[in-house]
Amino acid sequence: MTNMLPVDSLALPRFCGVPTFMRLEQNASLDGIDAAILGIPSDSGAPYRTGARFGPNAIRAQSVMLRPINPYRGGLHVFEELRVRDVGDCGVVPGYLEETYRQIEEAVAAIVSAGVVPMSLGGDHSVTLPQLRAVAAKHGPVALVHFDSHSDTWDNYFAGKKYSAGTPFRRGVEEQIIDTAHSIQIGMRGSLFSPTDVSQSVELGYEVLTTDDVFALGPDKLAERVAERTAGRPVFLTFDIDFVDPSAAPAVQTPEAGGFSAHETLTILRKLRDINLVGCDVVEVNPLYDGPGQITSLLAATVMAELLALLADGRRAAR
Ligand code: MN
Ligand code: MN
Repeated sequence: MTNMLPVDSLALPRFCGVPTFMRLEQNASLDGIDAAILGIPSDSGAPYRTGARFGPNAIRAQSVMLRPINPYRGGLHVFEELRVRDVGDCGVVPGYLEETYRQIEEAVAAIVSAGVVPMSLGGDHSVTLPQLRAVAAKHGPVALVHFDSHSDTWDNYFAGKKYSAGTPFRRGVEEQIIDTAHSIQIGMRGSLFSPTDVSQSVELGYEVLTTDDVFALGPDKLAERVAERTAGRPVFLTFDIDFVDPSAAPAVQTPEAGGFSAHETLTILRKLRDINLVGCDVVEVNPLYDGPGQITSLLAATVMAELLALLADGRRAAR
């Protein structure tokens, strides 16, 4: 049992107070915690819509709706298994991606060196690369579990620039911080720039499951594939919210029609197990494009809550 519970929403209404993720304590201290929610408010790597810099706080604002018990994992009380704080946001330098990368890597390195699991709210997808650098410095090359409608393994964008939301999972292979033999990309779909957009990931060593593959497999078999592929290796799970159909998640940088409903998405995450999670992020929420009720931010908050439950479930099983 931990003594770090969120604010009790039956005692103090959800609209009271400064919003933190799931109404957890906000404090930059890493002492005595198992996991840290970190905001990474950078959209300097966005090739299309900018505005994901507003993602972390938009997700926090909706996350006050989430309750601490996860009924999909045997009534798991997430915060009795895990001590979690919202450690606030790391610094960024808008418009200067490589300087921003240094700040992200430093913030995540401090978290992992304290023995704490970093769980980040983006930010566009470029923010994952410096997190992988920090996590791999501690754990070695990570098994990547990547949910996205895009592979993000292009070589460069615009005048040959190497860092972008479209390139992190090629850079990570080149930097030898991703162990592609144990990595899987899930959800690719839609039109391509070149016929090699999907095969380029396979050439890098990733297993690739398209959206159609995922529908054909179903959530139970998919969860088995992910557990088999990662095989106990340290896993970084990265969730690009454009995995979801734009009808359920309109507020993204690069919408891709023909994706998963909110229910299909959450069902997939609720089936995951036997994953050695050492870090994760939920990225690409751009609240400037959200619909009434901030549905994208609410779903992104729920995705992160499911990842917390996945980590808590693993800790409970190991106990
Ligand atoms: Mn992406
Ligand atoms: Mn994407």
